[in-house]
Amino acid sequence: RADFVPELDAADRALVDGVLAGQLRPLAKTITLIESSREDHQARAHKVMEALLPASGNALRIGISGVPGVGKSTFIEALGLYLIEQGHRVAVLAVDPSSSVTGGSILGDKTRMEMLSQRTEAYIRPSPSAGSLGGVAAKTRETMLVCEAAGFDVIIVETVGVGQSETAVAGMTDIFCLLQLPNAGDDLQAIKKGIMEIADLIVINKADIDARAAQLAKSQMKSALMMFRHASPNWTPPVLTLSALQKDSVAGFWDEVKRYRDTLRPTGEFDAKRRHQALAWMWEMIDGGLRSRFRSHPQVKHELPGLARAVEEGATTPSAAAMRLLGYMEKPSQ
Ligand code: GDP
Repeated sequence: RADFVPELDAADRALVDGVLAGQLRPLAKTITLIESSREDHQARAHKVMEALLPASGNALRIGISGVPGVGKSTFIEALGLYLIEQGHRVAVLAVDPSSSVTGGSILGDKTRMEMLSQRTEAYIRPSPSAGSLGGVAAKTRETMLVCEAAGFDVIIVETVGVGQSETAVAGMTDIFCLLQLPNAGDDLQAIKKGIMEIADLIVINKADIDARAAQLAKSQMKSALMMFRHASPNWTPPVLTLSALQKDSVAGFWDEVKRYRDTLRPTGEFDAKRRHQALAWMWEMIDGGLRSRFRSHPQVKHELPGLARAVEEGATTPSAAAMRLLGYMEKPSQ
């Protein structure tokens, strides 16, 4: 199966073969390489990734977001167990930009999904702690592709409801789901953060606590949604009320996810979204790469602090300073 990767050395080939065979140890090792900041690890990760890429892309990618306490891990565990019953293999990943600050991840934590983490059909990986949101998201995206190559056919990417990270997760998944509490006023918060625009599916969780409040929240959400035009003219984001504590409620959720896929696939929108995401990702990597090359250029490093001060003091214009610094990129460094 690895005949398309002749340039791999024995260790990397073993990783590729192991991942393709669906083995968890090589999978974890590959993800560790992806998450490492060491240059030699990154070089290996790229080679292994390249070899695995043709085997990726066969999963349904679900983004799930919501504020802490809304019930994400409860819901994901129930959904994961249900999907395993249906014969699926489920990977749960997380994008948590705060993990680099706290040193630990508050998302995708194994101890929070105890039953799911014990299943061999599930793979749970906490958020990488790569520093910037862009770094964390890029690594999670690569991890997602590796999980797909390992045969996981449903990928769940979880994030907390803090703005930018939701956009990042929506940018790497097929369907982006927003979990909400049945509190009046919550909908307005979501609108403010621009999340409604990227939501493909909205779930009002904890409907068991107060069914009437949940129904009210649902109608508020529905009218709020009317203010936005979904990216697809063929899809109006549904609003579901459910309880993550009730096992059968996730079945209805999964039905909606499948309906979304089955609606957007025949029109070509499903694949177009993925193509668009891949290109956007490439440009993000280019932007990031250029930026870090720029910052590590010796002459830029040398002059940047002084020029930044000069700009602050009005001694030079921002554009003159930028042009001067960018000019160094065109010359070979000394
Ligand atoms: P997360 O921070 O979004 O991952 O939220 P958790 O899944 O950890 O849930 C927070 C708390 O809410 C836990 O005590 C859960 O047991 C509880 N919870 C989650 N879903 C529901 C639900 O549908 N109904 C009720 N009553 N409690 C829930």
